[in-house]
Amino acid sequence: MKIAVVGTGYVGLVTGTCFAETGNQVICVDIDENKIGRLNKGEIPIYEPGLDVLFDRNVAEGRLKFTTNLAEGIKEAQIIFLALPTPPGEDGSADLKYILKVADDLGPLLERYAVIVDKSTVPVGTAEKVRAAIAKSAKVEFDVVSNPEFLREGVAVEDFMKPDRVVVGTNSSKAQKTMEKLYAPLVRQGNPVIFMDERSAEMTKYAANSFLAMKITFMNEIANLCERVGANVDDIRRGIGTDSRIGKRFLFAGIGYGGSCFPKDVQALAKTSRDYDYDFRILNSVMAVNEDQKKRLMPLVQDYFEGELKDKTIAVWGLAFKPYTDDIREAPALENIKALLSAGAKVTVYDPEAMDNVKRILGDQVTFCHTPYAALDDADALMIFTEWPQFRTPDFEKMDKLMKNKVVFDGRNLYELDVMREMGYTYYSIGREAVL
Ligand code: NAD
Repeated sequence: MKIAVVGTGYVGLVTGTCFAETGNQVICVDIDENKIGRLNKGEIPIYEPGLDVLFDRNVAEGRLKFTTNLAEGIKEAQIIFLALPTPPGEDGSADLKYILKVADDLGPLLERYAVIVDKSTVPVGTAEKVRAAIAKSAKVEFDVVSNPEFLREGVAVEDFMKPDRVVVGTNSSKAQKTMEKLYAPLVRQGNPVIFMDERSAEMTKYAANSFLAMKITFMNEIANLCERVGANVDDIRRGIGTDSRIGKRFLFAGIGYGGSCFPKDVQALAKTSRDYDYDFRILNSVMAVNEDQKKRLMPLVQDYFEGELKDKTIAVWGLAFKPYTDDIREAPALENIKALLSAGAKVTVYDPEAMDNVKRILGDQVTFCHTPYAALDDADALMIFTEWPQFRTPDFEKMDKLMKNKVVFDGRNLYELDVMREMGYTYYSIGREAVL
């Protein structure tokens, strides 16, 4: 099939590349000329494991192309994906200006029947708005369907190629057939393509992300209580995760969730609830707890240095909001680094993938280091914000030689308490006793 993907970011590029991999002709469109320029030179502007192999193959075989020209991109498309940003507006609602702008632009450009697919995470009722915007000027028939994306950054290619499920919201049997055909190669193992009405599909995405954010937040609250009662949240996690009704995943306590999706999607669902006069109390708590959780370590750092952070050097490991991505949107590391800087500390940082993105925000306010150990040179303490695997088994003796103080504030519970005790570290983590 001929496919256009409008918006070539984390979701759009993965969507376009993976559908090219299943044999479709794909054109990705973006207004960012720099991005399209790089893609046309064979450069992938984001870090996403495994994407490069598929990208190179499909570009080389002529199935994957890039343009800044919407008219050219959609000219022959049977399916047009909208993978555009939906950032939070001031009131928490998802800002639809990118989607509706493209919908406005699409109307006069459509030359044949096409299925327009909302891949972005959008509030209930958006498909109707997109349909209305296109209908203002379209001269041909078209369908708008909701097809929310559930991929996780860091494992996006795998998630896309082998989805647990695909959700499609539509009332059109013609569009349903097109979507069935498109997804058939990805669900050969029997995972379902679940069809429903478009409002339910839009809601499904928010329900999924809000549920996951709630699961993390629940464990963070258990962790906070564990610290008070003298229990270990890791044991609790193992103790409850083995219950098949609960499941093992998303039970790791930490310094709070971040990223481009959970914070904005929880906010947007809360806003939708308010719009419909429903007080979704759990969501309000999830947001409030997560805000506090991101600040959990700072008071411990302040106490340790008796409120005197001026001229202390704090090393930071991990900037991305989670491992295997360079995405720093709403990353807990950023907020903490800003707090350290405003307390007068010097900050040295290391992240395997996200440093360029942070440089664009913090410039020379922090020192970027090429290795995790370089960041520790003469450091008064280490703070950890991302569970990159390479941080899990560091050379503690080497760390000891480099650091001024053997003190670690770990927002991701990477180390065993006994090991840290044996190595003589002062070690603070989340939901576990401090090693002093
Ligand atoms: P992104 O910011 O990485 O990419 C969006 C792209 O759209 C950018 O490249 C931007 O230049 C482009 N764009 C903006 N206006 C445009 C226009 N008028 N024409 C063409 N391109 C335009 O965003 P993302 O992370 O890919 O997210 C896209 C959507 O998918 C959001 O709604 C998000 O909530 C949802 N989503 C994201 C993820 C994720 O893990 N990132 C997962 C599932 C769903």
